[in-house]
Amino acid sequence: MEKYQKITAILSLGMMSLGVNAAPNVATDITPVHSLVSQVMAGVGTPDLLIQSGASPHNYSLSPSEAEALQEADLVFWIGEGLTPWLERSLDNLSPTSTKIELLEAQGTTTYAFREGATFGAHEDEDDGHEDEAHEDEAHEDEAHEDEAHEDEAHEDEAHEDEAHEDEAHEDEAHEDEAHEDEAHEDEHHHDHSGVDPHAWLDPANGKVWLDVIASALAEKDPENASQYLENAAISKAKIDTATLSIENTIAQLQDKQFIVFHDAYQYFEKRFGIMAAGSISISDASKPSPGRIAEIRQLVEDLSVSCVFTEPQYNPGIVNAVFGDTGVNTSGVIDPLGSGLVTGTNLYSNLLIEIAKGLQSCLGKK
Ligand SMILES: [Zn+2]
Repeated sequence: MEKYQKITAILSLGMMSLGVNAAPNVATDITPVHSLVSQVMAGVGTPDLLIQSGASPHNYSLSPSEAEALQEADLVFWIGEGLTPWLERSLDNLSPTSTKIELLEAQGTTTYAFREGATFGAHEDEDDGHEDEAHEDEAHEDEAHEDEAHEDEAHEDEAHEDEAHEDEAHEDEAHEDEAHEDEAHEDEHHHDHSGVDPHAWLDPANGKVWLDVIASALAEKDPENASQYLENAAISKAKIDTATLSIENTIAQLQDKQFIVFHDAYQYFEKRFGIMAAGSISISDASKPSPGRIAEIRQLVEDLSVSCVFTEPQYNPGIVNAVFGDTGVNTSGVIDPLGSGLVTGTNLYSNLLIEIAKGLQSCLGKK
C-alpha cells in the first residue's frame, strides 16, 4: 500500500515536471454538439453534456449537477438562444473568464429562417421557388452538376440574408422579458424574434465548419494541446464527408416521395440532401400544434398522397396516431434530430445523420 502511494506520488511529480496540465472544463448543450467537441478533444479530455440524451432541448431544466458543470466551464459550446432560450440567463451569469461560443453565430454557418405554416407556406418560400424554377429552365441544356451549383449559390445567398435578419432581430430583442413569463410568451419570443431555425447541426457542412470553430477556441484556451485539437478536427471532417456520401446513397431513390415530419427540425438536412418534407405537424420549437394546423396537415396528406408521417422519440406519438390513424398513411416511421437512441460521444454526430437517412428509407422505400 505504501509502495503504491509512492509510485503514484512519483508519477504525478513526473507529470508535473513534464508540464502536462488538465484539459479545460468544457460544457456543451446537446448531444450532437457534445459529439463534435468530444471528437476535437479526443486524447485530451471529455466535455460535459448539459441536456441529456432523449430530452427535448426546447423545454428543459438543468439538474443541480448539470448546472454545476456549467458553472465550472472554462468554455461553453452551444447552438444558440433559438434552440434553448432558457439557457441564456445561466450563460450570462458565468464567470467573465469563461468563453461562450454560440455556434449559430459562427462565421461560415449556413442558417435558414423558420418556415411558415404547416405546409411550409408558399409566401415564405416564394422567392426561392422562383429562383429555383429559373435555374431549372436554364439548366435544361446544362448538366445536372451545374444545376446543383446554382442551387448552392442560392442557398448561400439565403444564408447571408438570414444572417442579416438575425442581426436585426438581436438588436430589436429585449432580453428582459425572457425568463419568467409563461410558456406561450416564450414560444412567441422564440418564433417571432430570433428568426433563425436553430436545427443547423443537421447540415453536415455546418458540422464541419463548427469542428474548426471548436478546435480554434480550444487551442486558444489550451495552447499546449493546440496541435492535437487541430489534427482531431481534420480527421473528424473527413469522417463527416464519408457519412455524407453514405447518406446520399441511402436516399438516392427517395427524393420524389411525400412525407410529413413531426416538428419542423429538418430543413437543414432536407436542403443539403435534396429530400424535402411536405410539411410538419408542429413548428420548429416543437410547441403544440393548433387545430387549424392539424386540419391543414390532414388535408395535405390526402391531397398529396403522402407516404409517411414520421414521429420522434422525444414526443408522444399519440397525436400522430389520433390525427392520421384513419387516413391509411404509414405512421410507423421514426426520425430523430438528436440521435437519442445512440451512444453519446465521438461517433454520435455522423451516426445521427445516417440514422435519419435510414429512417426515411425504411418508411419511404416501401412500395
Ligand atoms: Zn427541435
